[in-house]
Amino acid sequence: MSAADLVQRWVRPEIRSLDAYSVQEASGLIKLDAMENPYGWPDSLRRRWLERLKGVSVNRYPDPAGRELVAVLRRVMEIPEEMEVLLGNGSDEIIQILALALNGPVLSVEPGFVMYAMIARFVGRPYVGVPLRRDFSLDLPALLEAVERHRPALVFLARPNNPTGNLFDAAEVERVIAAAPGLVVIDEAYSPFTEATFMRRLGEFPNLVVMRTLSKLGLAGLRLGYLAGSPEWLDEFHKVRLPYNVNVLSQVTAAFALDEGAAALAEQTAAIRSERTRLFAALEEIAGLEPFPSEANFILVRTAPGRAEELFEALKEGGVLVKKLHGSHSLLSDCLRLTVGTPEENDRLLELLRRAG
Ligand code: PMP
Repeated sequence: MSAADLVQRWVRPEIRSLDAYSVQEASGLIKLDAMENPYGWPDSLRRRWLERLKGVSVNRYPDPAGRELVAVLRRVMEIPEEMEVLLGNGSDEIIQILALALNGPVLSVEPGFVMYAMIARFVGRPYVGVPLRRDFSLDLPALLEAVERHRPALVFLARPNNPTGNLFDAAEVERVIAAAPGLVVIDEAYSPFTEATFMRRLGEFPNLVVMRTLSKLGLAGLRLGYLAGSPEWLDEFHKVRLPYNVNVLSQVTAAFALDEGAAALAEQTAAIRSERTRLFAALEEIAGLEPFPSEANFILVRTAPGRAEELFEALKEGGVLVKKLHGSHSLLSDCLRLTVGTPEENDRLLELLRRAG
């Protein structure tokens, strides 16, 4: 039997039918495709960090619960005292932990973060995607109807939403939480770029948890996500988390960055927020482009009909990599997603867009 025959015989059909999560080749390009923070660390901070790493015992397993890091997160992220915290190897891993632990359908809105559907499929849970309205707000009647019909074990709502950048109405989100029979996850991956949060409201709803990541804050390379919620839920999720899922270098570095690097990171996110405002205004001035208001570190733009592919290629040709969303969902036709970069990177992006006309 050939390897292909064996794969056909033994790999689950839902896995064989999946496409792997694709990451674009970016070498030599200005990377405005993946919502990373474009700034490095000041030299003095980098030196102190390397000093700290010298003391790390890589021969030992890390603290399985990451207690030191959790203590810093609790303080810096204002996690309510009575709530438990679970760390993940990126919030992607937390999505997987939740989907593995809960028994029933996974529901989210579309267009949304693609990993909710992908993980649901590979852990063998039915997935329900409810379309947003044309302006990317929640279609509340459709959502409540889907919740009633499918009785999901798990609902994911990203706030701000990726790839649209908008903030779902808080009162409508509350209606979904109240109607959902199972767990609702508010995914606050983009929390460094908005004031909106459900973190302080965790105690109000027995079926609510808040998930965040340090990726967009400026620590994407560490792969660190966290979940805050009541101990009843999180004690179960800890059972599914693989022991030592967050390595010691990530634990130490994240704790250091959130503590001693707090001022530098705050300055960087403030710069990104102000560049977001400038970039949005400049995009509005370019004929044929329609930017959508964003509370995240990226801006969704609609190009003139049929021009997304051509503009994507023109940007790449000019050295700037963005995300092409045209073709991924009917509500995203002619759309590109632009991550906010440094002022120089954004200038280059704008220059290329103006030139492509
Ligand atoms: N949630 C949302 C809404 C995202 O956009 C992303 C990353 N693009 C993630 C979760 C995953 O983040 P990470 O695994 O880097 O923590």
